[in-house]
Amino acid sequence: MNFAKGGLGWIEVVCGPMFSGKSEELIRRLRRAEIARQRVQIFKPGIDQRYADDHIVSHSEVKIRSTNVKNAADVMERLDLRTEIIGIDEAQFLGMELVETVVKLADMGKRVIIAGLDTDYLGRPFHPMPELLAVADEITKTLAICVQCGNPAKHTQRLVASEDLIVVGAAGMYEARCRRCFEPELASVKTRSEVKQTAAV
Ligand code: ADP
Ligand code: ZN
Repeated sequence: MNFAKGGLGWIEVVCGPMFSGKSEELIRRLRRAEIARQRVQIFKPGIDQRYADDHIVSHSEVKIRSTNVKNAADVMERLDLRTEIIGIDEAQFLGMELVETVVKLADMGKRVIIAGLDTDYLGRPFHPMPELLAVADEITKTLAICVQCGNPAKHTQRLVASEDLIVVGAAGMYEARCRRCFEPELASVKTRSEVKQTAAV
């Protein structure tokens, strides 16, 4: 939704856990902009090469072409000044400088649509998403379905033991869970080795 007139810039953020349809929603909005013959540029961090280098691909296989970037400065460097709509997926991997960059883009009159994980594998706010939500004109929070109980799911459950903030993967490494079924300790290396030791005694 964007009722802004006269080239007023605008920031939209779509956030939620993995499998909640963020990429699908981002692609839907960008596709509509393309149908309206607006000039669109789409960026995603190069870190996420699960499916394709040059496309954003949703878990349901919907896709749209995109350009890989390393950080916010990279977005500015690749920006075509004629671009009217800028899409950014997996914004949680692009660093805090992204906040200033998207405000600048909106001040230049661009419509910026951002998707990203709002919380990490421990359920903590995943920066810079909280800051992006604060500067946004419009916010959409998407929920997945908890694979354990079928309730609305707001968490991304990591199924492999690792305490690194970023472990890129999809099916088999992460699943969507509701507040009640979320078990952040499952990802903890320490807890896992304690479990193994107890089993060995
Ligand atoms: P995100 O970008 O938030 O990770 P995607 O847009 O890539 O999400 O994928 C959303 C799609 O994932 C859904 O339309 C559905 O087909 C599929 N899916 C797989 N597992 C789940 C789940 N647990 N809850 C909801 N959708 C799921
Ligand atoms: Zn549940």
